[in-house]
Formats: sequence, structure tokens, C-alpha cells
Amino acid sequence: MLYGVKRARSAREADRLVPAYARRELAGTIAKDHLPKAGMGADEAYDLIHDELMLDGNARLNLATFVTTWMEPQAERLMTECFDKNIIDKDEYPAAARIEERCVNMVSKLFHAPENGVGASALGSSEAVMLAGMALKWKWKARRKAAKQASDRPNLVLGNNVQVVWEKFCRYWEVEPRYVKMAPGRYTINAEEVLSRVDENTIGVVGILGVTYTGEYEPIQDVHDALVDLKKRTGLEVPMHVDAASGGFIAPFLQPKLTWDFRLPLVKSINVSGHKYGLVYPGVGWVVWRDQDELPDDLVFHVNYLGGDFPTFTLNFSRPGNQIIAQYYNFLRLGSDGYRRVQQASQDVATYLSSEIAKMGPFDLLSDGTDIPVFAFRMKKTRAWTVYDLSDKLREKGWLVPAYTMPPDVEDISVLRVVCREGLSRDLASNLLDDIERSVKRLGKAGAPAPRKRKGSALKC
Ligand SMILES: *Cc1c(COP(=O)(O)O)cnc(C)c1O
Repeated sequence: MLYGVKRARSAREADRLVPAYARRELAGTIAKDHLPKAGMGADEAYDLIHDELMLDGNARLNLATFVTTWMEPQAERLMTECFDKNIIDKDEYPAAARIEERCVNMVSKLFHAPENGVGASALGSSEAVMLAGMALKWKWKARRKAAKQASDRPNLVLGNNVQVVWEKFCRYWEVEPRYVKMAPGRYTINAEEVLSRVDENTIGVVGILGVTYTGEYEPIQDVHDALVDLKKRTGLEVPMHVDAASGGFIAPFLQPKLTWDFRLPLVKSINVSGHKYGLVYPGVGWVVWRDQDELPDDLVFHVNYLGGDFPTFTLNFSRPGNQIIAQYYNFLRLGSDGYRRVQQASQDVATYLSSEIAKMGPFDLLSDGTDIPVFAFRMKKTRAWTVYDLSDKLREKGWLVPAYTMPPDVEDISVLRVVCREGLSRDLASNLLDDIERSVKRLGKAGAPAPRKRKGSALKC
């Protein structure tokens, strides 16, 4: 959130904290918005903040987020031991740097890169996407310059179902987004729509492995093959980037035969969020390129490393190292068998939930959780209550199940989305089903609630 910009504030919102509840010794008030003159005891500060945070939702019942909400205590211990390590200090922390490099190697092999580990860690997929997008733009510019052609009107072809980071990329780096529109019943891009938007100024095509709205995989191989065909016909080569923020740690384990990664020659780069199905607390992401050729030299900066040279490609400088260490912990601890087991369990819960919800009557599924363990459902017909009312009702029980509108052109469709992650057990899931059933009954009995204008909220993650 950007603070300091005008926004509505509740009239009741006082400008002082009255923290007597946190500790008996705390009888006075504390200024909220400026640095207090005198400090307070460590325990008091802890209690005060700890208590205030009680109002946050319960992370384990948060079915809105893709981001990891549970890790093993050993991973937490390692992370605590590394809170003080700045991952950019390669010189001071060479062991952490080696671990980061091993993770890049593992991720790039997981995605079938022909070369060993060309890639970097990032704060999450958002930073990773910025880096990959920049490489696409720089490569395109170099191609155009070499051909003595204009390089001032780059465009990127992508669905309007993309995560907001792609809109940011296009705006910040001045690339024209050419959106493939969604249509009722089709919530992914397809080869035909992509091809009709591609031209010599296209820096790349983005395919999503795990659309945030529905959890579906886009038909990456189809789009890729159409681009191969285009190259055969016209000589124009258009590279692909795969946004595998969530699917990158699902498909290799649950759908190993699905070809979406570097096995497809025009796939030049891939991003994945370590803190989603990589099973690490926020924030870590990875970006990998097919080979060195795809990463233009002038994007790489060199820092001194043990008297030697360490190339870096990041937007941030300082960054905590502990998530990277935690990623490595998961890789060693779970291995591919372990990842498969964990993801299969999440998928089993997702398909159980979606099939039971489909049987309830009022709902239609947009997806069923068989790609990534995420699914979305909508109302079959208009009733006196909406998915927003159901979302509110479930919140009364502690469940956070977001309701939102689909992307432009299908934005009249409102859905609920459930993200199944490690920690959502089958048992918890059956409780959720009971609560959905009860809420539906109550909403039905209550008749039409006072008509409320609900502006469709934008999708956050
Ligand atoms: C979550 C997500 C992102 C953004 O990733 P962060 O790791 O949250 O920065 C980008 N693309 C897709 C498809 C996502 O699901």
C-alpha cells in the first residue's frame, strides 16, 4: 500500500493508541503516527504489537493467498539463524551465495534448461518478471538494431488475465501490452488470438502456468507450436516467457509429461515463486533463462566477490537471505518425491472440495483444481444473494475465501476462489464444506438481503 495518499478514514479512528490492555503498566497513550520521544520496555513493545496483530486473519484459514503459511520448525530455526544475512553481500557470506547458486541450478534443471543454471533469485515472481521482461526487451532491441530497423515501439502479447505485475512491467518499461481478451468459457489465451497480435515489434509472448483467476494452465505448447510455425513461414522468431509463478513447482511433480518449459525451444525464460508452491515463507522467487545467450550482458552488474567477480541481475540491492536458505532446506528435505507428495495432497483436497461444491447445487465450477490445486466457482443463476454475501458469511467463521470479478470482457462473472496449500487438510476442508452448506442455507432463508451495490474488487494475488 502506498501511504500518504488521500483515502477515506473512519471518523472513529483516533490518532493515539490506548494500550492499557497490552500490559497493566501501560496506562498512558502512545502516539500512532510519530516517533515517540521515550521508548518502552521490550516486553511491553512486544505485547502491544502482538495484541494489535490479533485482528489480522488466521493465515491457515486464508484460502485467498498462494503464499506459504506453514513451514517446518527446523526451517523456521534456520531462517531465524539467517535473519542477519544480506544476500547481496556475496563476499561476506560466500556459503549463502553458494546455496543460492545451487538453488538456481536445481530450478533450471527442474525446468529442463539445456545449460547449467543461468538465473537469479528475486524477491518474488514480481521482481523475477521485471528481470525477464527487461531481458526480452533488450534482446529485441538488439535484434532490431542489428537489422537497422526502428526499435521504439516494442509490444508484448499476453492475456488480460495476467497478474498485475505484467501491467506494471509494460507501463514502467514503456512496452505496449497487446492483450488477448477472455471470452465466456475461455479464461486463457489461445494460439489463434496470440498469432493475430504478434508482429516484428513483439518482444515476446507470455504464457501463464497457473492463471491467478482460475488456477488453469494456459495452452503453452499450442501457442509455442504456432510461433514455431510462424517462424517457418515468415522467418520471424518471437520468444516466449512462461509465468510459472504458481505452476512451476506443481507441473514438474504432478504433470511431468506436460511440456511447457525449456523442452520447447522458443521458451527463453521462466519465473517461479519460491514462496508459493515452492513452500517457503514470503519473499523469494526465481527467474531462469534457457542459456546465457538470452541474458544481455549490459543488464548484468558486477560486484566484487572474494576478490573475484560476481555478476548480479536484480532490481533491489539489499535483501534478506533467509528465504533462500529456507528454499534450499525444502529442496534437500523434500526432494522431488517429497514435493510430489505434498502437492498431490493439496491437489487431492482441491478436487475433493471442487467436486463436493459442484454437487451442492447453486454453483458452477470454472475450474476444478486439476492443474494447480486452485479452483474457482460461480453462481449457476441469479439469486437473492451473491458470491460476495457468501464470502462475508464464511468470514464470520474465520474462512477467508475471496470473491472477485473476472478480467475485462468477462467482468460480469463474479467468482469465489479457493487456493489449497499445504496445511489445508482434508479434515479442515470438510469443515469448510459444512460451513459453505450452512451459509448457503442461511442466505437462502434470510431472503433477499438489502440490495447492496458491490463494486467488483480487483484480484490481488
Ligand atoms: C503470484 C503471481 C505473480 C506475482 O508473484 P509474487 O511472487 O507474488 O511477486 C505473478 N504471476 C502469477 C501468475 C502469479 O500467480
